[in-house]
Amino acid sequence: AKATGKARCQIYSPRLSGPPEHDITLEAAMFQAVREGEFLLYYQPIVDARTRQIQGFETLMRWKHPTLGMVPPARFIPIAESNGLINLLGAWALKAACVQLKQFEEVAKRHLYISVNISPRQFRNDKFLAVLDDAIAFSGLLGEQLVLEITEGTLMIDPVHAEAILAKMAQRKARIAIDDFGTGYSSLAYLKRFPISVLKIDRTFIKDLPDSAKDGAICNAVLDLAKHLGLSVVAEGVETEAQMHFLESRGCQYIQGYLTGKPMPANVALAALKESTHA
Ligand code: C2E
Ligand code: CA
Ligand code: CA
Ligand code: CA
Repeated sequence: AKATGKARCQIYSPRLSGPPEHDITLEAAMFQAVREGEFLLYYQPIVDARTRQIQGFETLMRWKHPTLGMVPPARFIPIAESNGLINLLGAWALKAACVQLKQFEEVAKRHLYISVNISPRQFRNDKFLAVLDDAIAFSGLLGEQLVLEITEGTLMIDPVHAEAILAKMAQRKARIAIDDFGTGYSSLAYLKRFPISVLKIDRTFIKDLPDSAKDGAICNAVLDLAKHLGLSVVAEGVETEAQMHFLESRGCQYIQGYLTGKPMPANVALAALKESTHA
């Protein structure tokens, strides 16, 4: 049905998958949301495939609108990316996640790592390294506890610039993960060129395991490639024991998915961590 009436009715419309013109009102609502503090962070456990102990968390942004409810990141991140708000939101998320990790560590009494998504625009922003330094210094984390997730696309927009930024990140010991690995339009040559530490196998290659022979072959190949290049692998979107077993038996070290933990608010993540630590 076509939305009619006042523009503000569209804000209150629950039809979040509507046509692009709705983004204008969603965009206006986003600026208000920043002022009102409606953005928050969820944390999804990344576990060791063999022991299932939590090793770290991926930070996933959430927008809790008073009437729309939870607006999915797939809906608001692209808007923030196009209007530049992602720089503000991303800087906040990075710092808040680093501070949160400190609290997680106090409970776990061991080192953990935090993985944060960095959008293409954020990565290219002049202030990005200053934002990174501020987050590390303010939280007191070690650079090596921070994993920055970028996509193949982010690297390919301007490879020369990417190389310079990645070198500076490496000086700070922060690690780079390739998010959604294998889904971008890029060659494997970048694995040689850039200092990458982690490959995250996209859920599209995981969801039909273990039945799909093709997906099985792709996962095997990625795990093999990573092993020979000395990279870690995180399998994303693991939902079943059968998928988990397939991946573990092929030497995949890290698992992330609904099977081992959904994205959750910090207090729930703390409880999960306590359980994981004392198990
Ligand atoms: P992503 O970085 O690939 O994050 C993984 C997505 O898969 C998350 O969706 C997570 O909730 C979902 N997921 C995890 N395990 C499972 C599973 O077992 N099954 C299924 N079906 N899904 C699973 P989410 O939280 O909706 O985020 C979507 C995308 O939004 C992210 O994809 C990322 O690209 C972007 N995003 C989220 N938070 C941030 C952020 O703080 N900054 C930036 N730049 N992008 C973000
Ligand atoms: Ca990610
Ligand atoms: Ca991903
Ligand atoms: Ca994805």
